[in-house]
Amino acid sequence: MITNNTYDYILAGGGLSGQMMALELQKVIGDNERVLMIDKSDKNENDRTWSYWSTDRSLTDVLARKVWNKIKVSGKGFNEKISIAPYHYATIRGIDFYNFTKKELVNDKRFEWVTAVVDKIEEDSGVVKTTDGKSYTGKLIFKSYFEADKLEIPTKDYSVLYQQFKGWFVKTEKPVFDTDTVTFMDFSTLENTHETRFFYILPFSGTEALVEYTAFTANRMEEQIYDDHLNWYFKEKLKVSNFEIKEKEFDFIPMTDYPFPQKINGKVVTIGTTAGFVKASTGYCFSRTQEKIKGIVQALSIKGKIEESDIVSPFHFRLLDSAMLEVTGKGIVPGERFFISLFKKMAPEFLFRFLDEKASMREIIRTMFAVPGKGKLVIATIQKLMIGNKI
Ligand SMILES: Cc1cc2nc3c(=O)[nH]c(=O)nc-3n(C[C@H](O)[C@H](O)[C@H](O)COP(=O)(O)OP(=O)(O)OC[C@H]3O[C@@H](n4cnc5c(N)ncnc54)[C@H](O)[C@@H]3O)c2cc1C
Repeated sequence: MITNNTYDYILAGGGLSGQMMALELQKVIGDNERVLMIDKSDKNENDRTWSYWSTDRSLTDVLARKVWNKIKVSGKGFNEKISIAPYHYATIRGIDFYNFTKKELVNDKRFEWVTAVVDKIEEDSGVVKTTDGKSYTGKLIFKSYFEADKLEIPTKDYSVLYQQFKGWFVKTEKPVFDTDTVTFMDFSTLENTHETRFFYILPFSGTEALVEYTAFTANRMEEQIYDDHLNWYFKEKLKVSNFEIKEKEFDFIPMTDYPFPQKINGKVVTIGTTAGFVKASTGYCFSRTQEKIKGIVQALSIKGKIEESDIVSPFHFRLLDSAMLEVTGKGIVPGERFFISLFKKMAPEFLFRFLDEKASMREIIRTMFAVPGKGKLVIATIQKLMIGNKI
């Protein structure tokens, strides 16, 4: 029996991947199909700012707060501004994206939006139950909600790290920022460490920027440590004492090669972080999510079904990503040495293509030879290979 609470698609979680899915579905679904988006939040706040590199300008041109064509990488023996063409690097504020999606969907009668907490999804029947006692039935459910704090990952076989960052959105009295160039990785540091830790600057104007301290860590660190580093960086590196902190961001992205239990064939399909869309070795996921969601919707509309290859990255890329996470995340090869060496030897265009999993086998081998401590990377790859298709 079809009731008003029956939908063709239910998006359980309406953050980045849920909303990207809604925008893609809007392009292909029929006039009588119905889509329900359920999120525990109204998405009325700027809960994050996404930055990404891409060659796809579809969202960038509509939503980016700023776009850059150059990045700067600084560390021992290297301090270069590099052009990233044909890529661009852009920043989109969460709230701008959420408002854009709402504007696109508000007059489309096929879409409904409910603010509620999903309690349970019954996979066989496709019933989604929310904590306010309501039930909705979906022919296909895209599940993207998850709680990072409650991630339980068996650490024996997998690397689990945190990309933890503290960012200050600042306004300085005098122009100090180079508006054309993103400081992608500045390995200047207050203390010696093998971990991958760096400063990152998104300059919005000469006097406005997001300045962030990022660390790949096995255990999350006290917020004060990040503040100490940021204070040091402003004083010793930027030589700025007169500035106002407009907003702060302190959060983390889990970085893991754990293969999240993927659901593809039944009524529930996982997308977003919970489907492994966050690249383990970098923590980036905006462009990957955009690409994977487009692939899923295309598969649905052309083949009428989703296959594993539409969601899951090829094995050799997962394997390499996992080995890179092991050596850089755990400081087996010091983060600064690893990344500086890569940027010294490879053009960013090539590195981005490699990280986007578009490099050919020849290019992958070239990258393996360019990294310092390649023996350690090879050992990590073999170790990961031994746990085989669990990755
Ligand atoms: C502060 C921060 C900054 C980041 N910056 C970048 C960046 O610069 N570049 C990049 O590529 N990636 C970045 N990331 C990674 C980030 O995880 C992804 O960009 C992206 O938001 C993940 O999309 P998602 O759909 O998986 O999760 P989310 O966007 O988090 O969406 C999940 C949604 O589920 C909802 N939800 C949770 N539980 C329930 C429930 N029980 N019922 C209903 N709804 C629920 C939440 O409200 C949320 O809207 C950042 C992450 C954080 C936390």
